[in-house]
Amino acid sequence: MNEFDLIKEFFLTQKVKRRDVVIGIGDDCAILTPPANQQLAISTDTLVSGVHFYPDMPAIDLGYKALAVNLSDLAAAGAEPAWATLALTLPAIDETWLHDLSQGLFTLAEQYQVALVGGDTTHGPLALTLQVQGFVPPHEVLTRAGAQPGDDIYVTGTLGDAAFALSLLQTQTHTSHPERHYFLSRLYRPTPRIQAGIALRGIASAAIDISDGLAADLSHILTSSKVGATLFSEKIPLSAALQKEKSNTHFWQYILATGEDYELCFTVPPTKKSQLAALNCPITHIGTITEAQGLIILNNAGKEIKLSQKGYDHFE
Ligand code: ADP
Ligand code: MG
Repeated sequence: MNEFDLIKEFFLTQKVKRRDVVIGIGDDCAILTPPANQQLAISTDTLVSGVHFYPDMPAIDLGYKALAVNLSDLAAAGAEPAWATLALTLPAIDETWLHDLSQGLFTLAEQYQVALVGGDTTHGPLALTLQVQGFVPPHEVLTRAGAQPGDDIYVTGTLGDAAFALSLLQTQTHTSHPERHYFLSRLYRPTPRIQAGIALRGIASAAIDISDGLAADLSHILTSSKVGATLFSEKIPLSAALQKEKSNTHFWQYILATGEDYELCFTVPPTKKSQLAALNCPITHIGTITEAQGLIILNNAGKEIKLSQKGYDHFE
């Protein structure tokens, strides 16, 4: 099987058809028609084998996750996803693996009607780069920069499950943990909060998706917005499964400083609080934006939680 057979066999098989795709996979360029009066939102994420995922991660989950983490960036901008390109670097052509990868990717792509419109296929160490493109009306994009003192801080879903799953993969306990399957599904199949991001247009003053850990990602909002924040650790929403791990030494590190959650963290002025009822996804109030710069995380007793590391940093 050569490069062209591979593209035909595994990537021309998608079910999503969009009228705004004039030319998709197969020519030198994809030709796309963006809607009038909307801006393009573009984001790229790379997953490198051995860095972002273990080489034995099931290919179907890898395909799903590669798209999910990209869609999560569109969600954080309040954008509606439309198109994607995939740059794939493969050490060898493994047809079963490629079939699974494309099925995982297309499962999520169909859910959001994202069309794969092109890409590149090269020989080398295993890595995937996806780029996604979406639409957002002018002046409605959510950024990291608009948080104001007094705004409330919220997160979607629950935090820490994916980080705990990573810890299971790093130790021998993963074969025996009773909730192993649940935790791995949270690491492998994050939910991009697309509908929430779109619903937050005009409501949230700032937003970010949590890829590197709540502390690190909220800190990006604080830096961009030139404000500070107080977080209440006991308010942070946790799954029932993770709550059982409270005695783990790294418990707060998983929740606050590991990442891979792909939930949204966003800020809302108190005057717009009632509008949050329109959101069709679980959200939790976890703290407040302050004028004093810096992030303070307080526990139930009002004591500050100090993290040994704020979040994941590739170059640290
Ligand atoms: P070129 O040499 O002009 O860059 P390629 O031979 O690399 O084109 O690719 C042929 C076509 O297949 C192009 O339309 C390209 O976008 C698409 N393509 C290549 N690899 C992938 C992939 N992994 N996923 C989706 N489309 C791909
Ligand atoms: Mg060409």
